[in-house]
Formats: sequence, C-alpha cells, structure tokens
Amino acid sequence: MTEYRLPDHLREAQHYINGTTTASTGSGTIPVLDPATAQQITTTAAGTTADLDTAVEAAHDAFRSGVWSRLSGRERSRVLIRVAQLFREHAEEIAQVESLDVGKPISLARAVDVNTAADTYEYAASLAQNLDGAVRRVPLPAHAYTQREPLGVVAAITPFNFPLILSTSKIAIALAAGNTVVHKPAEDTPLSALLTARLLSEAGVPDGVYNVVTGYGSDLGDHLTAHPRVAKVAFTGSTQTGAHVAAVAGQALRPVTAELGGNAANIIFADADLPKAVETTISAFVFNTGQFCMGGPRLLVERPVYEHVLEALAGAVPHVPFGDPRDPGTVIGPLANRRQLEKVAAAVEQARAAGARVVTGGEPAEINGGFFYRPTVLADVANSAEAVQQEIFGPVLTVQPFDTEQEAVELANSTDYGLAAGIQTGSISRAHRVADALEAGIIWVNAWGMLDPAMPFGGVKSSGWGRENGPEQMEAYTRTKSVIIAIDPAPEDQTPDAEDAS
Ligand code: NAD
Repeated sequence: MTEYRLPDHLREAQHYINGTTTASTGSGTIPVLDPATAQQITTTAAGTTADLDTAVEAAHDAFRSGVWSRLSGRERSRVLIRVAQLFREHAEEIAQVESLDVGKPISLARAVDVNTAADTYEYAASLAQNLDGAVRRVPLPAHAYTQREPLGVVAAITPFNFPLILSTSKIAIALAAGNTVVHKPAEDTPLSALLTARLLSEAGVPDGVYNVVTGYGSDLGDHLTAHPRVAKVAFTGSTQTGAHVAAVAGQALRPVTAELGGNAANIIFADADLPKAVETTISAFVFNTGQFCMGGPRLLVERPVYEHVLEALAGAVPHVPFGDPRDPGTVIGPLANRRQLEKVAAAVEQARAAGARVVTGGEPAEINGGFFYRPTVLADVANSAEAVQQEIFGPVLTVQPFDTEQEAVELANSTDYGLAAGIQTGSISRAHRVADALEAGIIWVNAWGMLDPAMPFGGVKSSGWGRENGPEQMEAYTRTKSVIIAIDPAPEDQTPDAEDAS
C-alpha cells in the first residue's frame, strides 16, 4: 500500500476552539483506525461537556460581537470563496486524509469529496450575496418590509460516511447566513473537520466562528442539542439517532434539520437501455462502498428482463475493482469501521436464511486485516425481509421482480424511508408518471447520484426533515423579521384638499 503520513496537527488529539487547537478537559481519547488495515492512525480527544461549553461560549461570543454576523453578505461571500480556493489548493492533502479516515477510494475522494466541498462553499457564497428581504404592499398606513437574520450558534452533528461533504453542507450555509458553528463530527471520522477548521481560519473566518469538538455522540449529543446557547441543530445520521436528537431538541424548543437514513429503490423497466441500466445500478449500490444514504440498494426489475439483469450483474459485479483504497483504480474499498462490517455481514446472513439467492459475493474478504466485504447481489428477496425494509449501508444489492408500473411504485414506496429513488426507462412519459408517484426527496432518471449544491436534497417519511443545498436551505439557517414603520397622515393644511380650499 502507498503510505500517506498525516500532518502533525492531526496527531494532537485536540479540539479546535476559538481559532486554536485546544486540549480537552478530560483525558479520554478515541482511536482513529485506517479501515483498510484496522491499524490505528491517530487518536482524537474524547470531548467532555465542559469542552462543549467552552466551544459554544466561544461561538456565542463571536456571534454577539458581530465580527461575522454583522459583515455584509458580500464580505462573507468573499471569505467563503477564499475557503473554496484553499480547498482546491489543498485538494490532495484533504483527499488523502478523507481516504485514510473513511477507507474511501482515493479516486472518489479526489473527484467527488473535495470538489463537492469547494463547490458548496462557492454556492453558499452566492447565497450570502442574496440575503435580501421584501417590501410588502400592505393595506396599512405603513412601510412594511422583511429582512433575513442569522440565528446564532448552529450545532452541527455529522456522520462517518461523507465526513467532509456532509459537514460542508451545514458549515457553508450556516456561515453564509452569518451564524457561528460548533461541530461534533462522527467519532470514527473526525479528521476532515479538523482540517476544515484550519482552512477556514486561513481564509479569514474570524476566531470562534467555527469550532470543532471531537467525541462520542452518546457523551456529547444531548448536551449540545439542548444547550441554551444553541439556536439551531443541523443533524445528519441514522434515523434512530435523528429521532432522539429531534426529541431532545424539541423539548428544548430548538429547530432541527435532520438528514437521516435512506434505502432507495432503483427501478429497471424492460424498455430501458439495459447495459446502461445495469452499469448505473452497479454504481448506485457500490458508490462509497455502499455507505451512501442516497445509494440504490433495492433493485426492482420488470419481470421479462429480471433473469437477464441478474445474469449481467453476476458477470459484472465481481470485476468492479475492489481492495486497497489508496490504489487509484479501486472503486470499492473497505467499510468504514468494524461495526459496519458486522452489520453488513449479519444482514446478508439473515437474508440468506430467509431464502434469498446469493448471485455474487455474500462474504467478507480477508485483505490486510481491513473491514472488507465483497460486493453482494441477493436475488428473490421477499419484500418483507429485513434486508429490503432496513438500511444495510454496505455494498449489498437486493433484487426483486415486478409485473406492472403500479406494483413497482408500491414496492418502491413500501419502506419507511424516502430519501432517493431511480427510474431506468426509455419512456419519457413513464419517467414523469413514476417520478411523480415515488415518495422520495430526489429522483434520478436514467442516472444515479448526480448532485449539485444548487439542487436541494433531503428526506420524506423516516428519512428526515428539511433540505440541504439549493436556495431552499437558507430558510433553515435564518429567520425572517418583519419591520412595519408607521407613516403618519400628512398634516391637514398640506393635504391636496386643504390646498384647494385656500
Ligand atoms: P449515527 O446516527 O450513528 O451518528 C451520526 C452522528 O450522531 C455522529 O456524530 C454521532 O456521534 C452522533 N450521535 C450519536 N449519538 C448521539 C446522540 N445521542 N445525540 C446526538 N448525536 C449523537 O449515524 P452514522 O452511523 O454515523 O451514519 C450513518 C447513517 O447516517 C446512515 O443511516 C445514513 O443513511 C445516514 N446518513 C444520512 C444522510 C442524509 O443526507 N440523509 C447522509 C449521510 C448519512
């Protein structure tokens, strides 16, 4: 394997608070493992609630000082554009760190993670410049207008699978709006947050505006979510944790955006371009080693082409480059941690016991002691099976046949989740009809995974509340203030009537 050495500051096991690395008040640390070898690469601080208090206080003071919140949108925009430039200048270092931390194929980290983060800062910069209100013509003796204001301290809590992108999708818009941030990254994959802190500072984001406290969600989550100085909670993670976070935030009357689990259906109709549909299906379920909330782990295939598609998958999937994430040719790497590996293995065993046919894969792979699971296709899986109804979050595809368009829609909508869905068809009318009927926040037609900071994403049902990206996201990071200024009637002697009479 090609060795990459972490920069020294990522070996310090410290938080980043008020513009500087800060030791934890506790002595606990969390090992950070390289998922490709299960070897420890560094440790981070297991933060305490006292650490969180310091970070929230710093963020609150920075907000109140106006050093960021009172800048014009254009000034904030300039800084965010500089952040994007720095991400591009440091692209290789960021990609290497993200790949090492998550076990993500380096080609993916280079092409997707770093570029998406930079694009997201640039897009947020454009929104910062357009934070205007509206004049309302109301039937009152008044001039009435609205203005948008930042909320205050945003608590960002993020998951392990796309640490950089899913942090950026909160930080960039929060900062664009003039908020300050306390970020608790996932315990397994905290490194890109610590890199981000340095780059934001270098770009000119003032001290205290972005703070990182590393640690276990179980130790820190409730304290951060219900902290009296936190104005909003931005959470991405599992449905189970999200429901808990929403309950705690609700009790404390904090607004929450919650981007939660997904279990998307990908529907292949017999009229699709089948070779392309199979290629799309593979990339939809192996992208990021299946640890993609908007991945396509449930394949529904119209019965006349069901066996043909299974044969094509059986032929192609074992040849998708699988192994060392540092090899630029690798498409599928290890899972991000042992917990994921065990979860995926258990889900496949359960499906097999429930009668699923293993078309390919179906077992872990012994590669350098890392958390590898072979890309797996399971056919004839009952719709009620846990492998279909629950999110597996690994490189596993379940395949089910259907006979009619209506049945396909019913199967696609039959889980509690609703984050994404895909339609592979040659009929434009069918694409519109089915897209309209699917219960999901984003639908791809003859494609999978195309995203852009300008296009909102988010869930329906148990996949969450709120939207990230697009202009819509600004709603969740600002509040509207109405200003109504009375206009006195003209003095009697100056009214036109009074003038006429004289
Ligand atoms: P997770 O819910 O286990 O953890 C997410 C974050 O929550 C981590 O930072 C964790 O430390 C923290 N946390 C844990 N307990 C907490 C508590 N009591 N209070 C507050 N925070 C707490 O999720 P994960 O395993 O890291 O991520 C995988 C999940 O995230 C999958 O379900 C995936 O679908 C989902 N996800 C959703 C999206 C989306 O945009 N909808 C994107 C990526 C991942």
